[in-house]
Amino acid sequence: MTTAAHPTADPDCIFCKIVAGAVPCFKIYEDDATLSFLDINPVNPGHALIIPKRHSPNLLATPDEDLQAVIPVVKRIAAAVQEELSPDGINLHQANGPGAAQSVLHFHIHVVPRRFGDSLVVNWELRPGDKGEIAAVADRLKRAIERNRAAG
Ligand code: AMP
Repeated sequence: MTTAAHPTADPDCIFCKIVAGAVPCFKIYEDDATLSFLDINPVNPGHALIIPKRHSPNLLATPDEDLQAVIPVVKRIAAAVQEELSPDGINLHQANGPGAAQSVLHFHIHVVPRRFGDSLVVNWELRPGDKGEIAAVADRLKRAIERNRAAG
């Protein structure tokens, strides 16, 4: 499905390029309005991002319609993460502006699996993950999402 640029695409936006299929990603879910893929600098295994396909730079610029599309997907991804990875908890994270360490100016919500003692701080440092490990986790989550969809 991610093969055409969204009409609102910003040519300088990495997430718009992912939506267009011009940049690869570890995709775990897609529908008409949203896309979810694993973060390439995961703070913990299973760290996922959910974005609206329409480009909006931050929360305040995002149409309500896109927010309404994104939230059920966040829940779906969190359910798959919980089921497959059994974290001790899950944080949702959403950054707006440089003071909040927003590094990609396309609205997105992080689903962050947490472990007791992982010492995560809010403005975490970006560190590249192992691509093989990210791909393996993406496969597990995709299967869980499909299973849950089939079960209704
Ligand atoms: P934020 O810093 O809250 O704006 O989050 C942006 C996130 O996007 C960071 O955690 C990055 O690691 C992640 N990111 C940047 N480029 C990519 C990419 N090509 N594929 C997956 N995740 C990415």
